[in-house]
Amino acid sequence: MIVMKFGGTSVKEAAAMTATAEIISARIHQQPLVVLSACGGITDKLLRLAREAGLRHIQESTSLLSEIEEHHKKILTTKTPDNQQAHHDMDVLLAQLREFAEGLSLLGECTPRSLDAIASFGERLSTTIMTHILKANGNRATFFDARTVMRTDDNFVNAAVDRVQLRRLSKDLLLPLYSNNDVVVTQGFIGSTDAGITTTLGRGGSDLSAALFGEALDASEIQIWTDVSGVKSADPRIIPTARTIARMSFAEVRELANYGAKVLHPDTIMPAVERNIPVVVLNTFEPEHAGTVITADIPDGSAAVSAVSARHDATMIRCDIPPDTNATTVLNELMDYCVLAKREVLHCTIGESVCIVVIQGPEPVLYESRVPYTVGQVSLLCVAGPNLRHDAVSLKTVCAELVQYSPAALAIGTSDVSVVAILSPAVVQDALKGIHNIIEQQ
Ligand code: ADP
Ligand code: ASP
Ligand code: MG
Repeated sequence: MIVMKFGGTSVKEAAAMTATAEIISARIHQQPLVVLSACGGITDKLLRLAREAGLRHIQESTSLLSEIEEHHKKILTTKTPDNQQAHHDMDVLLAQLREFAEGLSLLGECTPRSLDAIASFGERLSTTIMTHILKANGNRATFFDARTVMRTDDNFVNAAVDRVQLRRLSKDLLLPLYSNNDVVVTQGFIGSTDAGITTTLGRGGSDLSAALFGEALDASEIQIWTDVSGVKSADPRIIPTARTIARMSFAEVRELANYGAKVLHPDTIMPAVERNIPVVVLNTFEPEHAGTVITADIPDGSAAVSAVSARHDATMIRCDIPPDTNATTVLNELMDYCVLAKREVLHCTIGESVCIVVIQGPEPVLYESRVPYTVGQVSLLCVAGPNLRHDAVSLKTVCAELVQYSPAALAIGTSDVSVVAILSPAVVQDALKGIHNIIEQQ
């Protein structure tokens, strides 16, 4: 069997749903488990709805509810106008959503648990519609509520999945559905606690759901269908000439994703790596393109430098260490602050200064050491290559380019497959273009 995950753009409107349904129908003999995101833009609207309802902003929440309802009804009316069951299923879900929103307005609060409950409707609505479209097209298709098997902890908004339970429950409850059906449609992103409370796996979490389902069901392949033809040498929105990388190692994609390449959720990679299941990134709007095959091994014949990505949500905190102060004390204090303020550390160096790069958030207060520090916004640029650390010639070319942009630090050797530069946001786009020129000239 295969897992086919379709992102928000692939189910955004009626036309995208048509394209997606055709792709699924063409692969029906492979026993697909279809994992869907919410229609593009709907999760954002649902989260806004939850917040506005919690603030008792009745006008805003009513108009958001109407937009969400109209969006889904329009797709259903276009795709399956006379299907009473489809309209009934949709009405039940929309009525539930309205009740939840009203509940939040009455309580005047919006907790992480409520955010998850409301956000889950995006995936539940898109999968309900897709199941009916597939059936209307003559497929033996069924809907499956992912929450039945995707058991998580109660860390709402960013819940962790119990992979052992997922494997057992999927084999017991999901697999048997294939005796009467050719395709099962389920939700990405959502799960539930053992007590049945709805949770979500974090924004963009449908990729992770797909990988977890693939692992649980021993799928032969996990297909990530999106709006670009595979992983490219750079974000095509920034470098329109970026080219598709035919084969890549998991390690490279993980580095790129960690440093801003939105094409895959970074955690997607691990469950697939562990079971050696290939992940293929494909384009719903150009389905004949072979896309990118991502495997655990380094593919033969890969270019030395494969791709470049950048993230812009980081802050650098730099403490110059006075002669009478121990750098380790300062580092410990900074780390305590990261733990307390829940700030992910992206980079850390210790020497004459102690420097950490963290995801943006509140400033630290160094009560103990009282050393002076500076805080500044930075961008992180990641250059990936299958064997970059051990390829001195390519490293030299990459570094020669990066030093022109006066990086605050260059991290070489922390990963076998990447070089990371900490740069001023003012120069990062030029640096990205410079590195991409190197990729093009290989
Ligand atoms: P989906 O809704 O299908 O999950 P996403 O928007 O999460 O899609 O991811 C696809 C987007 O990722 C593309 O539209 C593209 O702009 C962006 N992207 C960023 N870096 C890359 C890259 N290196 N290769 C391909 N796409 C990239
Ligand atoms: N719908 C969710 C989001 O927008 C999950 C996903 O699309 O992967 O974050
Ligand atoms: Mg995505």
